Amino acid sequence: MVNTANERFTNFTPYNMKKGEEYMSADMLEHFKELLMQWKQELMEEVDRTMHHMQEDAANYADPSDRATQEEEFSLELRTRDRERKLIKKIDQTIDRIDKDDYGYCDQCGVEIGIRRLEARPTATLCIDCKTLAEIRERQTGI
Ligand SMILES: [Zn+2]
Repeated sequence: MVNTANERFTNFTPYNMKKGEEYMSADMLEHFKELLMQWKQELMEEVDRTMHHMQEDAANYADPSDRATQEEEFSLELRTRDRERKLIKKIDQTIDRIDKDDYGYCDQCGVEIGIRRLEARPTATLCIDCKTLAEIRERQTGI
């Protein structure tokens, strides 16, 4: 079985903002750091499982047609692992930004990205407006 990378982490309790709490308070930063570290843990276990599975399978095929199928499956799994590795790197960079108290604001325009958006996409660095614009530009230029 080929597992797709977990692009989203859903196994967490949504943050409850206290009355009068400031955006990106120490508690809030802690919440996101926790969330990111759990997500990373999950991804690393996923990578381990994939590698183990590949090593186990590699020994079991003698028939050439089986090998072709297996190679196809391996290349898919390698792509998945590559995505997971990139995601782990992004998570590390995000945790680093939390440590530097530079988290939760749009890189482009500086507005608050928002708790709910960050919970849906903890590695987001753009607000929804800038992200939408960037995607439109991407489509237009094809980059
Ligand atoms: Zn923005």
